[in-house]
Amino acid sequence: MQLRLHAQSRVGSRRQQDRLTAAPAVVAPPRRGPSPAQFQSSAVGASADTTPAVQLTAAPGDVLVNPDVNVQVAIGQPQYAVKVLYRSRGTPLQGASSVFAHVGHSGWRDTADVTLSNAGSDGETWQGTYLVPAGRLSAPWHLETQLVFKGIVGGHERWDNNGGANWSVAVELAPAEGLVPALNPSYASTRALTSSLVLRLEALLAQRLLTPEQGSLLRVLAWQHDLGLTKAYQAVRHQDDRSVAGALAGRCSWLRPPGLNVVHVASEMAPIAKVGGLADVVASLAKAHQATGLLTEVILPKYDCIHYGEVHELRQMTELEVPWGPEPNRTVKTVVWSGCADGLPVYFIEPHSPEKYFWRGKFYGEADDAARFAFFSRAALEFLARRSHEAPDVIHCHDWQSAAVAPLLKETYKASGLARTKAVLTIHNLAFQGHVNGTFLQHMGLASRAQHVAQPDVMLHGDRPAGGITITPQGLGAQVTLNLLKGAIVYADRITTVSPTYAREVLGQALGMGLQGTLGKHQGKLTGVLNGLDYETWNPATDPCLPAHFTPDDTAGKRACKAALCGELGLPFEGQLPPASSNGNGNGSGNGHANGNGTGAATSAWGPNGRPLLAIVSRLTEQKGLPLMKAGLRAAIAAGAQVVVLGSAPEPKVHQEWEALAKELGAGGDGRIVLRHDEALSHRIFAACDMLLVPSMFEPCGLTQLIALRYGTIPIVRETGGLADTVHDVAHSRRPEHERNGFTFAAADVPAVETAIGRAIDAYRNGREWWSTQLVPRVMRQDWSWTQSAQRYSEIYQAALH
Ligand code: ADP
Repeated sequence: MQLRLHAQSRVGSRRQQDRLTAAPAVVAPPRRGPSPAQFQSSAVGASADTTPAVQLTAAPGDVLVNPDVNVQVAIGQPQYAVKVLYRSRGTPLQGASSVFAHVGHSGWRDTADVTLSNAGSDGETWQGTYLVPAGRLSAPWHLETQLVFKGIVGGHERWDNNGGANWSVAVELAPAEGLVPALNPSYASTRALTSSLVLRLEALLAQRLLTPEQGSLLRVLAWQHDLGLTKAYQAVRHQDDRSVAGALAGRCSWLRPPGLNVVHVASEMAPIAKVGGLADVVASLAKAHQATGLLTEVILPKYDCIHYGEVHELRQMTELEVPWGPEPNRTVKTVVWSGCADGLPVYFIEPHSPEKYFWRGKFYGEADDAARFAFFSRAALEFLARRSHEAPDVIHCHDWQSAAVAPLLKETYKASGLARTKAVLTIHNLAFQGHVNGTFLQHMGLASRAQHVAQPDVMLHGDRPAGGITITPQGLGAQVTLNLLKGAIVYADRITTVSPTYAREVLGQALGMGLQGTLGKHQGKLTGVLNGLDYETWNPATDPCLPAHFTPDDTAGKRACKAALCGELGLPFEGQLPPASSNGNGNGSGNGHANGNGTGAATSAWGPNGRPLLAIVSRLTEQKGLPLMKAGLRAAIAAGAQVVVLGSAPEPKVHQEWEALAKELGAGGDGRIVLRHDEALSHRIFAACDMLLVPSMFEPCGLTQLIALRYGTIPIVRETGGLADTVHDVAHSRRPEHERNGFTFAAADVPAVETAIGRAIDAYRNGREWWSTQLVPRVMRQDWSWTQSAQRYSEIYQAALH
């Protein structure tokens, strides 16, 4: 068996780094460890008929922490033993009297402390072994663990965390070899078992009890005497064919070949370039796929306002001349950078155009946005087409900003190296479509296709003008408007939108935003897949932004977060109950309208958690239901709640209105409005608040209600789009009780939002026990992770390829 070994300093996730800031971290410059040749691998407790020898191949000089990886088979459960060798000379731990490694795998979910023993004559070489169960591999063929080292130097505790990036051991296991070592084929019994398996596979295939794909994968593994597969077969071989097929097919789900190569071309990616939910989705979907074995890469514009502190190993990679301009031979010099962000490989497109497309100090909101992103889409394709290795299987584009990818791919780049690459479009918000004037067809190199492209059922915005369209040898004129998102809908191989309800809504006139006809025509390609949440970033048990942590089993920390947020924002914490206003019965079915006195004046205490704290975390735009937000805030205060708003208003007029409201509310202890984008504060608000209001006019998916649920904050939402798919009313939903998780209303009017808020506050007041011991833990336990949705996307990629 051969393992391919890559040991390298990898960037730890934000969470890992933040864990370390709690420790007295000593920054050490990255350095080279001992050459792998200095250390011999040895079998660790391998069972008698396994092949114990492990051949390690690693580039000398690559190695920072030198792992010897071996396989141990402990009573049917394969696990990997990783031998760590650590040189403390020249590090913060030089001269240590003792050293141990703090090891984490599965993204630090499992941790262990390994005491290292001194292994060399110079006193500076330390070694130890730790075990990683096969079930903890980060992907079927990928073993990855993180380490930091701690030692006692001169009586003081010192850390070596690789300058905040952690040490990382990454081992690629050759896929064809399976998860466990091969049986030794020199044993006659092994050969007989393998032969029996090969013949049985043939029989199962002939009866169509296995698919041809399963058959070929299992045949390869059988032929290689894969221990796991042959042992599994040994256990069932005397059963009937159907049972044997079931047992063997079950193994295919984890003995799978390497996944697809998917490249996201996007205008945002959290945490380095975030405006809204699009950024979260791109990062978390890519991460979820990375963990299941897909090779995911991201291409972003190289904005000057990226959070470069969170981009690691940033370097110039290549230079391109991207065709772009009114004449066919004009090009724009473009530098492609590479860097690692949140553990993802990212390429950054930097045009050296006279227009300085991405040196504007902001992501969007420029008069030439359409041109900036059409250029970005073309440059991304140019880069992918010129890479020397195989083309990606799928290019996943997002919203109008990368929509031009789909028509360009099919019309131009298919013939330039991307022939078998498919385009998948995700519509995060149909309200933004990207309009360019006809002359951009020349910029995009599509002038010769003007006749076809400028049709109402292709890329022409709206209907054909009464006077027709004039096409000259140069292409289209400026009076023609093209719609980039429409083009992507027409040209993409598959289209998704971010919730099943929104996928239905966009087919209708109310929310189709003029593209309902086009979408209807291409409905066969359209699927609604609910967005998931990045459970690593959004985890109240570990979130480094929070002053206290909590879990569904122990929510005490939520109260501490609330007290801390009130302190931070200057709101009184132990609020008092206004005169009782309704007869809510504590199970959320009360229907009283808010009618408190609005001052929080007291007659009896709200109890240990103080007054309910209602939050809004949102872009402040029409889509998000600005009048309903304002009415909701006033209703909540009137019913005795305190309110917190974290919002950013792209429009100056809206910003001013909310500034006025902030002044009005800020005068008392009823509310605070913070008008800026503040990621860390948003985490503290989600954790601290009791309720979150999301009264959107339309909401393709919405992430804030999912984050709220994860943090035990009960959403009050309008039943539209993804909000309708994820929030189910505690009182009147038809769903089973364990799925009910919030308060909902249908009408987009003030009485509806007031009623829902009144019901929520009544339930909070009259059912305190139910709220805190049942409702909060229940919603926190619901699963809004990417697990299922990432699988749906994988299926959509596969469907696009077939
Ligand atoms: P949209 O993408 O339409 O803005 P979503 O609910 O899908 O709405 O996603 C919004 C994301 O942006 C969430 O992660 C939310 O926490 C975040 N967000 C919105 N406003 C702010 C703000 N002012 N400060 C920090 N984060 C914000």
